[in-house]
Amino acid sequence: MFNRIQETNSKTLAYAKELILNNQVVAFPTETVYGLGANALEDKAVENIFTLKGRPQDNPLIVHLHKEYDIEKLTEPPMPHLRQLIDKLAPGPITFILKSKKIVSNLVTANLDTVAIRIPNHPMAQAFLKEVDLPIAAPSANISTHTSPVTAQHVQDDFGDKLPLILDGGRSFYGLESTVCDITGEKPIILRQGFITADEIASIVGDCLQLSDTNKQEELKRLSPGTRYKHYAPNCKTTLFESNQISDLEKYAHDLQENGISFAILAESSAITGFQNYKVYNLGNTAKEMASNLYMYLREAEKEVENLLVLLPIGQSEILQTVQNRLKKACGKL
Ligand code: AMP
Ligand code: MG
Repeated sequence: MFNRIQETNSKTLAYAKELILNNQVVAFPTETVYGLGANALEDKAVENIFTLKGRPQDNPLIVHLHKEYDIEKLTEPPMPHLRQLIDKLAPGPITFILKSKKIVSNLVTANLDTVAIRIPNHPMAQAFLKEVDLPIAAPSANISTHTSPVTAQHVQDDFGDKLPLILDGGRSFYGLESTVCDITGEKPIILRQGFITADEIASIVGDCLQLSDTNKQEELKRLSPGTRYKHYAPNCKTTLFESNQISDLEKYAHDLQENGISFAILAESSAITGFQNYKVYNLGNTAKEMASNLYMYLREAEKEVENLLVLLPIGQSEILQTVQNRLKKACGKL
């Protein structure tokens, strides 16, 4: 297969700009996961993203901006909390939902009155955004429902030669999608959990609600349609075990081995010791480590085994809950 992966330098950035101005799609690195970018102002360009990914049209996209881009070109005031939050958290792994001026294509926002804005921190994402100097709509650079990509090779694995260019920026530092935070109302509301937590946001602006604190859970389907779709699933069979189901996991592993079916166990460091006779993926010790290893191992598992047995890590922290949530979704449990 022809290798579309290129290192990010002045030559490839110039080519990326040419592609973007021709309404084509370019994959680029960010600190969360790799993105599939196109000009957010052009219907035709944005349409290409949906077609390539096989993404449902009612699932809106995040608009990525370089640091100097004036957000107010795209959004309506008032924007309570925006300045304070931008000062403290951007550029970084957080997406803000704001009132839209309807400058970006309606395909980007799925006809909602709001627009999702992110200023990524990855130097090569910034270099790409600065080079094109346009708002870039970019979902994760994977085929819809598949595990998000955290390396350029993951993007190539999904799209083969369908993409003209994949800018390489190494492994994504966080390895997990951005926190999505709605700041159109009086109090910020987290629509999708990520590395930036509600506690951190509350420490800046006084308060921040989790969706579960609101009566908006049903409304979420309207507020953030993407959350209702199957997500993050690797192309191998996955089975989820809660921490009180270890004996079920052991029995399942034993049966698979008896039947000659290849499998691996994904678990946190402290739980992995009991399974040393089997192939294991060690998620790590801390919630942050686990978050950053998650997609890497889901992608590795689908290449190496037919079955992945996932043991849910234990813990209450917001980031750990995020890891649990993504794992449940990857196993088709949410
Ligand atoms: P992805 O691009 O795959 O990381 O998904 C983007 C996420 O942002 C999805 O969960 C979308 O539903 C959410 N999103 C994008 N735009 C909006 C918006 N205007 N309002 C609420 N959620 C949004
Ligand atoms: Mg995605």
